[in-house]
Amino acid sequence: MMIQPKIRGFICTTAHPAGCAANVYEQIEYVKSQPAVEGPKRVLVIGASTGYGLASRIAAAFSANAATLGVFFEKPSSDQRTATAGWYNTAAFEKKAREAGLYAKSINGDAFSDAIKQETIDTIKKDLGQVDLVVYSLASPRRAHPKTGETFTSVLKPIGKTYQNKTVNFHSGEVTTVTLEPATDEEIQQTVNVMGGEDWSMWMHALRDAGVLADGIVTLAYSYIGPEVTKAVYRDGTIGRAKDDLEATAHTLTREMREFGGKAYVSVNKAVVTQSSSAIPVVPLYISLLFNVMKEKGLHEGCIEQMYRLFADRLYGGHDVVADEQGRIRMDDYEMRDDVQDIVSSLWQKVETANLEALSDIKGYRSEFLKLFGFGLADVDYEEDVDPNVSL
Ligand code: NAD
Repeated sequence: MMIQPKIRGFICTTAHPAGCAANVYEQIEYVKSQPAVEGPKRVLVIGASTGYGLASRIAAAFSANAATLGVFFEKPSSDQRTATAGWYNTAAFEKKAREAGLYAKSINGDAFSDAIKQETIDTIKKDLGQVDLVVYSLASPRRAHPKTGETFTSVLKPIGKTYQNKTVNFHSGEVTTVTLEPATDEEIQQTVNVMGGEDWSMWMHALRDAGVLADGIVTLAYSYIGPEVTKAVYRDGTIGRAKDDLEATAHTLTREMREFGGKAYVSVNKAVVTQSSSAIPVVPLYISLLFNVMKEKGLHEGCIEQMYRLFADRLYGGHDVVADEQGRIRMDDYEMRDDVQDIVSSLWQKVETANLEALSDIKGYRSEFLKLFGFGLADVDYEEDVDPNVSL
């Protein structure tokens, strides 16, 4: 069949297997073009199929020759539908990893469940013995608690007062004002239950108790801070509360793993286009302006450049890990530079539908969005019939 993008809001309901593969190969080639990293050799990535988790997996495998085990929640193709992008990404990653002689296996299912944790532990025991790095890169709107069975839903809302700001429909280019009502206490708590540190902690406890964490284990989770304009909806909003909890969890985990030299870090990554970030109000407009400024200054990075730099420079660069006063690794250093933020905030004041194309990189945003689903890649013939049925 011929596969074309079918967009519904901030989701594309189709994905192109050859396009997703080309996107993954591009990331692999980037890493291979950089100096090798003396890094971890056995890596577990939870949330490994798209965005920052996929880029972490690629960076570990192709810069440090690591064996990787990936956990994610993706769907294979069916009669009516293509597989999800993360499914095709993983098939492409595993193919290239195996061609390079690297171990690569994947577990598809609900990472919040006890069953998937157990399956992961059994696989590590059987195939790898232990792991040296655990990357926790889940982004999910829901979580079923493995002990109580209760399902929590996260919301992207401000806390305390109504928030109004500009936002963009990145497909049509229409800039409008969005009004977001404050979250209730229950919504704040549910968001923390989904995106906070409890599940990361459960993973690390289960792995530790099963004896599959190597001495000197490093575990990483990802956070975001961002600028003043998104503060009310992001860092000071419900998701920010969850990130506070995630960051506090890093300190607790480091204390708990002290006896075998373990360290837990939160890396604050820069804003990039992923399936998750495109769902946050206000953020896509900010990213479109940011991309314009960062490209202009030669500072632009996507997931793979960020994750390679995290490995090569911050974690395994042969020096102590550089962290801020709260112990966080700051991969958002270029994004948060004053000279970048000053221009972005002055553009923010002026941006509207009529000047969007001139002031922002909305075109770049759109093409990055389509690329997430394997569309718009130069070397892929989208007129050609392609088999959507790809096995893992
Ligand atoms: P993403 O949507 O691209 O990836 C999410 C991953 O989680 C996928 O692999 C998906 O399969 C997996 N997943 C979701 N629910 C799951 C479940 N129940 N069981 C197993 N796997 C599941 O998201 P992303 O933007 O790469 O986000 C990853 C992390 O990076 C998040 O903590 C996010 O807050 C953080 N971060 C993102 C940005 C950004 O701009 N996108 C910036 C800084 C930090």
